[in-house]
Amino acid sequence: MNRQEIVAWLEETADSRLAELFHRADEVRASCVGDEVHLRGLIEISSHCERQCTYCGLRRDRRALSRYRLSDEEIFDCARLAVNLGYGTVVLQSGEDDGQTADWLTGIIRRLRATTPLAITLSLGERPDDELVAFREAGADRYLLRFETSDPDLYRRIHPDRPGRRSDRLSLLRRLRDWGYEIGSGVMVGIPGQTIDSLASDLELFRTLDLDMIGVGPFLAHPDTPLGVRAARSEPRQAESSEQMTLKMVALARLVCPRANIPSTTALATIDPTGGREAALLCGANVWMPNLTPVQYRESYEIYPGKACVHDDAQRCARCAAGRIRSLGRRIGVGRGDSPALRARREGAT
Ligand code: SAH
Repeated sequence: MNRQEIVAWLEETADSRLAELFHRADEVRASCVGDEVHLRGLIEISSHCERQCTYCGLRRDRRALSRYRLSDEEIFDCARLAVNLGYGTVVLQSGEDDGQTADWLTGIIRRLRATTPLAITLSLGERPDDELVAFREAGADRYLLRFETSDPDLYRRIHPDRPGRRSDRLSLLRRLRDWGYEIGSGVMVGIPGQTIDSLASDLELFRTLDLDMIGVGPFLAHPDTPLGVRAARSEPRQAESSEQMTLKMVALARLVCPRANIPSTTALATIDPTGGREAALLCGANVWMPNLTPVQYRESYEIYPGKACVHDDAQRCARCAAGRIRSLGRRIGVGRGDSPALRARREGAT
């Protein structure tokens, strides 16, 4: 699919035409990654953050947010629950929290590797190279790091550097791959100042990076962040942060990266609690990330307001996911659900 076609689809709004796109993406999903929907249990291990991202409710200067950091035992309780619920993967996610030291994290990863069969995904932001190498050596399998937008000026505006450290998520993703991680990235859809053309570039970049995992969700304005209060910039070709635009991005991501694992995201479920999850699974998505974070901490991990499923405990999230996946005629993934894209690359190399 060339750039012109991508832009044309992103501009398309007729439901009848979009049904064709979604159907095509669903067929590619079925033939390239099958009917299994993999469950990845999300553990939000810390809400502390050193960064000042203008879109995110965890940003350092947000004094009103109560901060927490899970203890070792809380993390292992969540992991045991993941095993008991039949999940193949846990995702450890947090703000960029210097209070979680590299030694502590390495110990957690090593113990998870030694005591559970789970694949381990990290989503801890930008950490120094030596730490990321140590996490990989300790047994981490995958790393999620969204580049958020491929527009370098917009990225700089919404994701200020840490003093003395230039943020370059694209080169970091490439290094993560070299160190042996499966790599995941993605974007928010409808960031103020983000155009349709820039979404097309995001998709081209997914293809260039040959991602194993792609997460796409709508931008949700957080009233307690700079980007949430500022009136949306009047870009002539501003991309909407709508369900339709997000679904177009999911479908196009499936077409440009046929073997990637693509989640049906919580942000999409937040703007459409009754049908968002299903809609994404029907136009390219093949992963669901049920929340395992202990319920008492959920509200403090407030990257955006009104997050879906915030009061549902892990058992309830698991039952809900299973029921909704089966009602679509799909199967729940068994095992770790490693990257089909990675497998194809390895086979190509031998
Ligand atoms: N600190 C980690 C994890 C961040 S949370 C990191 O930076 O990678 C995971 C994702 O939530 C982010 O990558 C971002 O794409 C998304 N997110 C953050 N704020 C959001 C908002 N206001 N609306 C929608 N998605 C948001």
